[in-house]
Amino acid sequence: MRKFNYLVPKNLDEAISLHESYGARAKYIAGGTDVLVKVKEGKLASDYLISLKHILGQDRPFLNHETGELFIGAFITHRAIEKSSIVQLNYPILHDAVKNIGCVQIRNVATIGGNLVNAVPSADGAIPLIALDGKAHIYGTKGHRTLELLRFFLGPGQCDLAGGEILLEIVIPPLLARTGGAYIKHGRREAMELPMLGVGVLLSLEEDMQTCARARICLGVAAPTPLRCHQAEKYLIGKTVDEKSLTEAGRLAGEESKVRDSIRGLAWYRREMVGVLVKRMGLKALERAK
Ligand SMILES: Cc1cc2nc3c(=O)[nH]c(=O)nc-3n(C[C@H](O)[C@H](O)[C@H](O)COP(=O)(O)OP(=O)(O)OC[C@H]3O[C@@H](n4cnc5c(N)ncnc54)[C@H](O)[C@@H]3O)c2cc1C
Repeated sequence: MRKFNYLVPKNLDEAISLHESYGARAKYIAGGTDVLVKVKEGKLASDYLISLKHILGQDRPFLNHETGELFIGAFITHRAIEKSSIVQLNYPILHDAVKNIGCVQIRNVATIGGNLVNAVPSADGAIPLIALDGKAHIYGTKGHRTLELLRFFLGPGQCDLAGGEILLEIVIPPLLARTGGAYIKHGRREAMELPMLGVGVLLSLEEDMQTCARARICLGVAAPTPLRCHQAEKYLIGKTVDEKSLTEAGRLAGEESKVRDSIRGLAWYRREMVGVLVKRMGLKALERAK
């Protein structure tokens, strides 16, 4: 394995300043579950790995009861999100996703920030956070900036971070009343593997508890970046949420997807499965909203 220097800054500014000093020869590392695999495989040749995990910050998601916003620090591990009672109770769509990432050993060290910055189409953390209208809070030499999480993803392995910027946290706006959501990672087997599809559905109901007030339908591994199915979402608004409307929403989502043939599945099958899984997750979301 190629040798590297492991740097341990005490705070964000020190981390950014180290990154500035070493430029292209440096790379941030959080849990290391992606970075170290790449170093071992010879795909990453950084001379300096700058650790972010020693920087003090949030160790679990924080719900601001006054504003209703949920703050998820980028350095929080998947396991801490999975164990959070706030997430289990109020954000089951996120819980569905993180509890199935890798295995418990991976979830104990891998961070949500690393998952998002890595920006692979199969990143399980991205889909529920986009469905929840998450915003990315970023910090760099030019200060703070915030952007819609959907816009954070630019292409496979590419995200909207300029040299040395750090993803600080994801902020989830208050949930509408009567909201339920569900996520499924679909693959050929239960054991650890890259998914063939990731499907997240978040539905908010009107007071009658059956009419759709707002819908979010998001897909992973269905395009080079996470995808929101706007036509399918629009179709559901004002409709009774049931098997019939969700079947049509699933069909529309399949049409909107940009699935292609790959070693893990053929495009036609994936498109069919988008329909099946949107309906299945929609029914689960409905049950949870109720
Ligand atoms: C066996 C195994 C199974 C896996 N299973 C899954 C799975 O089921 N689903 C899934 O989605 N992923 C899976 N992964 C991928 C990986 O575990 C996740 O993407 C993980 O969340 C990455 O987080 P990390 O903290 O380890 O990132 P790191 O490896 O430390 O970093 C990843 C990238 O993000 C950058 N980075 C990290 N944090 C920040 C930050 N806050 N600001 C700026 N840049 C940052 C790093 O420079 C690097 O480019 C698996 C990996 C392994 C090895």
